Amino acid sequence: MSDCLFCRMVAGEIPADVVHQTDRVLAFRDIHPQAPTHVLVIPKEHHRNFGALAAADPALLGEVANAAHAVAVQEGLVTEGGSEPGYRVVTNTGPQAGQSVDHLHLHVLGGRGLGWPPG
Ligand code: 5GP
Repeated sequence: MSDCLFCRMVAGEIPADVVHQTDRVLAFRDIHPQAPTHVLVIPKEHHRNFGALAAADPALLGEVANAAHAVAVQEGLVTEGGSEPGYRVVTNTGPQAGQSVDHLHLHVLGGRGLGWPPG
């Protein structure tokens, strides 16, 4: 979609600090990081939110999830197969949850203690 910020990053029209990618998935650093590590993981194809991608292409949602874990390992947030020190994956759907970009993205956050419940 030509008017979608993240589609334009996939297309290379807007710069992205890419940390990981596959044929169908892109991961790049958030421009306003909320933790020492804050990476966004997206499908390269446009899907507006979590539910839309789950319905349209669950295999691709799995690829996005795998990439989120790969980023966490790469960033030193966990060891492969391990769970320490730890990280969080969040996706916001809709305005009340704070979704500001209508292209599905998983936030991968870590590198500090993360409070619960989230705000
Ligand atoms: P949401 O609010 O939809 O859950 O998350 C959107 C995220 O995209 C926010 O954390 C925001 O900082 C990030 N973001 C917005 N514009 C840009 C941009 O131009 N580049 C990058 N790397 N991140 C962006």
